[in-house]
Amino acid sequence: MKALIFLGAPGAGKGTQAREVSKAFSIPQVSTGDILREAARKQAPMGLAAKADMEAGALVPDEVVCGIVEERIGEPDCRKGFILDGFPRTLAQAKFVDGMLEKKSFGSPLAVNIRVDEDILLKRLTGRRTCSVCGEIYNIYFNPPKKQGVCDRDGGKLLQRADDNEATIRQRLAAYENQTAPLIAYYRAKNLLHEVDGNQDPETIARGLVRFLRTV
Ligand code: AMP
Repeated sequence: MKALIFLGAPGAGKGTQAREVSKAFSIPQVSTGDILREAARKQAPMGLAAKADMEAGALVPDEVVCGIVEERIGEPDCRKGFILDGFPRTLAQAKFVDGMLEKKSFGSPLAVNIRVDEDILLKRLTGRRTCSVCGEIYNIYFNPPKKQGVCDRDGGKLLQRADDNEATIRQRLAAYENQTAPLIAYYRAKNLLHEVDGNQDPETIARGLVRFLRTV
């Protein structure tokens, strides 16, 4: 296994798919968004500093997220491979990943780009609910829990992310278009890009993706 990078707009299903791939290959999912949210919840200095950007739908400074990733990737469970979920999001971050992988003699990453139509993206974001206990992701339109507001697996309360509101979603989509979408061309030019049709249902996408990743 190697370093996998999950690219895609907010709501494309990066977290959902990264979870499945993480289970299938027993490699950790490193989500900068999850790490930042957890830091903010615990009121850690890094989390508090990032909170304003996150609430505004803007990107957190490169130095902050690069520091997070470098520290996390240095942990022993990442030695066999890992999934970067939501990182890199800028060209500077992509170059940082290149340098980090080279330093660790990890070889080239594989970038998986999950493409989703905008109308579906909006429903995925506004309908998303996350279990406060296990992190399982539901969607009130596409994948509702059996009992409203409660996780099927452990009965945990389902929460809506603070940044999944309409005004912030607009900013996040703009940040994606301006700063992150250019990374698709960056990895394509290096022949390190795998495109996935993210409009399908999550199980179908995961099955196809895991099947493909077994061949690389
Ligand atoms: P996500 O959970 O991936 O949607 O990320 C939620 C928010 O965390 C983003 O809107 C950004 O404010 C921040 N964030 C997460 N990953 C990054 C990153 N790689 N670069 C900059 N900001 C990030």
